[in-house]
Amino acid sequence: MLNDPVAIWPLSLSSVRLKKISPQDCSSSIGIVDCRLDANTHGDGCPTNRKCDMVNLFNLEKKYADDMVAHARTEAPNECCGILAGKDERVIKLYRTTNTEHSPYRYKIDPVQMLAIYEEIQKNKWKLLGVYHSHTHTEAYPSATDIKSIVFPESIYFIVSLSNPDQAIIRGFHITEDNISEVELRIIETQR
Ligand SMILES: [Zn+2]
Repeated sequence: MLNDPVAIWPLSLSSVRLKKISPQDCSSSIGIVDCRLDANTHGDGCPTNRKCDMVNLFNLEKKYADDMVAHARTEAPNECCGILAGKDERVIKLYRTTNTEHSPYRYKIDPVQMLAIYEEIQKNKWKLLGVYHSHTHTEAYPSATDIKSIVFPESIYFIVSLSNPDQAIIRGFHITEDNISEVELRIIETQR
C-alpha cells in the first residue's frame, strides 16, 4: 500500500511504519535505471539476479529526518528543498538549498548552490544519495510535476508532507519517467 505513512513527526521510533517494495516493483525498475545493486538487497523472490544501483531500504539518521522536517516548517507555506550526500548509503551531510521558485506548489534547487554541492560531493568522493522537498498541503507522494522534473534518477527523492501541520510525514521514492517505487525508510538513532 503506497499510502502507508513511513515516518511520522513528532517521531517515536516505534511509530515508523516500514514498507517493503514488492518483487514486481523492483523488476519493473530494471531496464529503466542502470541496475548494479547486489541482488541480495532486493526482496526475497526478486526475479532478477542483475545488480542494481537502487536500494529499497534506506537507513536515515533521525537528525537528518528532523532537519528536513524543520526546514519544511521554516519555509512553509512554500516548498523547501535540499540535498543529502554521503557514502555507502549513509548520509554524511544535509544541504538546505534555496527553492528559486519560492512557491507552495513546486521547487527548483538553486543551480549555483547545486554546482557547489556537486563539487563538494566529488571532492569528498561522496554520492548524491537523496534530494528532498516538501509538500505543504498535499501527501508525501510524487506529483506529476515532481516526476517531470527528475534530474537524478539514481537518487532517492524524499518528500516531507506537512498536510497535517502537527504530524509531518517523510517518504522516499525512486522515480523515473514511467516508474515510481517506494523506498523503505528506517529512521535510526543518530550515530556518533
Ligand atoms: Zn513535490
